[in-house]
Amino acid sequence: MSWQIHILANGRFSIRFRTQWGGDLLPSMENIPSSIFLAYSASGLVLVDTGFDPEDVGGHGSFAAQKRTESLEELLKSLGLVPEDVGDVIMTHLHWDHTAGMRLFPHARFHVQADAFRAFLCLKPNEETYYRPQHWLPLLDRMVLIEGDKEIVPGIRVRRTGGHCAGHQVVLVETEEGTLALAGDLPFDYSGLWSSLPADFWEDYRRCKGEKTGWSDEQWKRLRAFMKKNKLMDAPCGTREVSFSRLRRGCARILLTHDPGPFILTVKSGNSRPDSGKGSRRMLP
Ligand SMILES: [Zn+2]
Repeated sequence: MSWQIHILANGRFSIRFRTQWGGDLLPSMENIPSSIFLAYSASGLVLVDTGFDPEDVGGHGSFAAQKRTESLEELLKSLGLVPEDVGDVIMTHLHWDHTAGMRLFPHARFHVQADAFRAFLCLKPNEETYYRPQHWLPLLDRMVLIEGDKEIVPGIRVRRTGGHCAGHQVVLVETEEGTLALAGDLPFDYSGLWSSLPADFWEDYRRCKGEKTGWSDEQWKRLRAFMKKNKLMDAPCGTREVSFSRLRRGCARILLTHDPGPFILTVKSGNSRPDSGKGSRRMLP
């Protein structure tokens, strides 16, 4: 089965590590492009990730730029689709900039690594702010939990990588020119943020912008009940298994969620080298 890919440009955002008094504790991450991917073939559609909410980019001074035409609803409409057409959504991971559109899909199954949930048992305190449980807690009954590598449909499979966060997975798509990897945020490393910024910065970060980045007791309770029901609390998270450089060796082409690129591109040729990443670990969302 041969698939093609639409790259759906979802807008850009800038993140600042600013205190409530206005000082920047780290250099900001400016104008980060963000994409959603839609794989299509004669046999169907598979969406990979669902983008971010431009009204909810955490931190003082952080902001997003998303044109109306860059919202997920409008991007689908531009392809002649409605959310009801989408039956399978693969989540590379559950960070806030990938989950905002999950609520749009009334019939979809969400394919997520079980480790993406186990990760909630061992988050560093600042890592709570990387998630918006309100995006997906109402959808828990449609989560398809994956342990490791799995074929989702013929020609599309996921590979658990870990790395960017526990339970991160990449999507390997068979195209006419070879295997294309939709690699999410695999090369980007957040692990230094907790030690780079003081704990009171993160306390303030949670509270700013209407406390959207804080978890309520009710949300934790609901999540724990889901994890208990699915026996996710009985085993630890998997360790890192696949590096970005190792992934690159096996693929004709790699697309990252935050690659700069054209708004919509139909990938017909898969033999070009990826133009970003370079195998290094960088810090980006
Ligand atoms: Zn991201």
